[in-house]
Amino acid sequence: MEKMILNGKLVAQTEIKVDFEDRGYQFGDGIYEVIRVYNGQLFTAEEHLKRLMDSAKHIFLSVPYSASEINEQLQELVKANSLESGIIYLQITRGVSPRNHAFPNPSVDCMYIAKTKAVPRSTANADTGVNAITTEDIRWLRCDIKSLNLLGNILAKQKAAEAGCFEAIQHRDGTVTEGSSSNVSIVSGGKIITHPANNLILNGISRQVMLHLCASNDIPVEEREFTVDELMNAEEVFLTGTTIEVLPIIKIDGTVIGDGQPGQITQKLQELFSNEVERQCGVRN
Ligand code: PMP
Repeated sequence: MEKMILNGKLVAQTEIKVDFEDRGYQFGDGIYEVIRVYNGQLFTAEEHLKRLMDSAKHIFLSVPYSASEINEQLQELVKANSLESGIIYLQITRGVSPRNHAFPNPSVDCMYIAKTKAVPRSTANADTGVNAITTEDIRWLRCDIKSLNLLGNILAKQKAAEAGCFEAIQHRDGTVTEGSSSNVSIVSGGKIITHPANNLILNGISRQVMLHLCASNDIPVEEREFTVDELMNAEEVFLTGTTIEVLPIIKIDGTVIGDGQPGQITQKLQELFSNEVERQCGVRN
């Protein structure tokens, strides 16, 4: 029987019911994280849980557990479900209260659930690269918060799906921000360029791993805004994200990027990323 976490306790998945007045259900009033598990070990869990706590702080949500308590609970969950390779989805909402935009007063207990899902570490897309479209970024101005409100991201991803593409690369007035569920980087003049970690993007944990790997391997990086024009004319384009790791983009809006193959620097980063997974979790595909 598949286990989940409900408010800090391991329970059978069938025991979890959502109240229609849960604020996550009615307003998307909550936050979430997705953490990768390799070889039964959580990858970069501390970084994910720090971001979760930061998101909570930004929306004035008090979480009744510390990051290290949640970390221990998640490790128990992984063990209970014998998860080898996959993800943990975790979400915390502001709890159940009669519908009213303002926070419940007095406050109510938050609703915290976590679930595992087995996902094999697939290399098919990583080897060939994928296609993307560009689209206007219509989201709010606090994209640094990993909020349950994902309508802007969903509409962008659906547009990509309808175009037969893997990802939608969003831009604000011609400045590239990020993918609908990933960060975007380009290689231009042999240098990696990626949007600065500010309110307009989610500071991806994989993006942070990538930046550390670049720093320790003398790969030049510039964290600065870049335009759709620079994107289309880049030598290489790649995405980073928890489930996709480092994923090459070979075509955008039907235009071939570089020579239409995963680029050299992207491939180097994929190798470095795999080494890092092996270092932290002791596994290699
Ligand atoms: N940006 C957005 C909008 C995302 O949803 C995600 C998560 N999939 C990312 C970036 C990448 O973040 P991470 O590397 O932490 O998965």
